[in-house]
Amino acid sequence: MLALSLDMGGSHIGCAVVRDRAILASSSLASEGAGSLESLLPGIEQELRRLLAESHANTAECEGLAMGLPSVVDVRTGRIHSNFKKYEDAATLELSGWCRATFGVPLRMENDARMALLGERYAGAAQGFDNVVMITLGTGIGGVAMILGRLLRGAHAQAACLGGHLPVNFHGRPCVCGNIGCAEAEAGGWSLPGIAREWPGFAHSALARAPQIDFRTLFAAAADGDRVAVEVRQRCLEVWAANAVTLVNAYDPEIVVMGGGVMSSAAVIIPFVQDHVTQHAWGAWGKPQVRAAALGNRAALLGAVPLLQEVL
Ligand SMILES: [Zn+2]
Repeated sequence: MLALSLDMGGSHIGCAVVRDRAILASSSLASEGAGSLESLLPGIEQELRRLLAESHANTAECEGLAMGLPSVVDVRTGRIHSNFKKYEDAATLELSGWCRATFGVPLRMENDARMALLGERYAGAAQGFDNVVMITLGTGIGGVAMILGRLLRGAHAQAACLGGHLPVNFHGRPCVCGNIGCAEAEAGGWSLPGIAREWPGFAHSALARAPQIDFRTLFAAAADGDRVAVEVRQRCLEVWAANAVTLVNAYDPEIVVMGGGVMSSAAVIIPFVQDHVTQHAWGAWGKPQVRAAALGNRAALLGAVPLLQEVL
């Protein structure tokens, strides 16, 4: 199947022409500071047309456009239920009509983390598995699940895609979602700077001199032996591991796939989470494998074909 694929990230939009498990052409458009999705549509159209030309694909063969959004989206109705303050006008736009009029193909929209799971199962770390949990560590924490080969969606399309909002600490930090002590409030990219700054000894840490505190600087400083960085990293690992056990107990997967930019430190993260899951998750049958995602930021783009082929 030939398809168009869009991954609507908070700061950029991944654009691709895909044929089955191959990305024929791809690029990234900056979206930071854009007032609305509507204002971005002409640029998206232009970019997808350029990629179609670059890939020498026969445009008439194209069977659909798959769009991953950082939102609660119901692929069955094409409705966007919540946009987490990104692309706030998306729910009011007639995107299916735009897609049909512009490219002559149907549009399917899905939560971006669900699309990434589809991609990893189709072409990456979860190939061959029908029962999958995927955790994406980024600004927030994405957690999604597939059971018996079907993405879990639920009555309001929010089932299993709020994995980062499962609490790990009832007395913890307030979360952007309104809950308390969510995994991403305790160890997400957005909460990390605040956690680090409150850590005893922060003023003398290498983190205090870093231009910005993100997982890259945290893991680099920890690898250099910076005490505060080592302790904050340990806390993050424990939060992610606790979140993984919760998701395993909830969804009964054979495999847990962990993705996100921080997985450049997979050699530290995966063994820690695997040990914790093996020790603490329920599983009379055995324990799920914990693996690093294989596709990086191509995962959601490669979820296009399985999403478009899914019988809803
Ligand atoms: Zn939350």
